[in-house]
Amino acid sequence: MSRAFVCASCNAWNRVPDGRSGGKCGRCKTPLDESGAPKPVSDAELDALVASSPIPVLVDFWAPWCGPCRAVAPHLDRVARNHAGRVLVLKVDTDQHSRNAAAIGVSGIPTFAVWRDGALRHSQPGAMIGQQLESFVAMWAT
Ligand SMILES: [Zn+2]
Repeated sequence: MSRAFVCASCNAWNRVPDGRSGGKCGRCKTPLDESGAPKPVSDAELDALVASSPIPVLVDFWAPWCGPCRAVAPHLDRVARNHAGRVLVLKVDTDQHSRNAAAIGVSGIPTFAVWRDGALRHSQPGAMIGQQLESFVAMWAT
């Protein structure tokens, strides 16, 4: 088994064998962020990652004024790290970037959406924390 990480510098995807860490990007040699921590992205960045990702992409559509969204954040951070390299966890601030949220019909936040092989597979509104969130993310992780 291996994990996949996208290079923050050149956006190339890199496969990293299980049990190995401290890898560098095969294309540009930048050290890879293998933490799995959720990454804030724009609509354009989301488009590019959905199109290129070899692993499922799970997106938290949120906004800073949304209390339930803020309650989810530390849980999502922990769960994303648990599945580093097996699911790419992104955060889209819908106040700043509303195009993808509108395109998939997000009507309330937080909404969790999952793309795999470039296509939207799932979306669901409502906050999730703890074991419920862990189980949801684990279900999509490769
Ligand atoms: Zn690179």
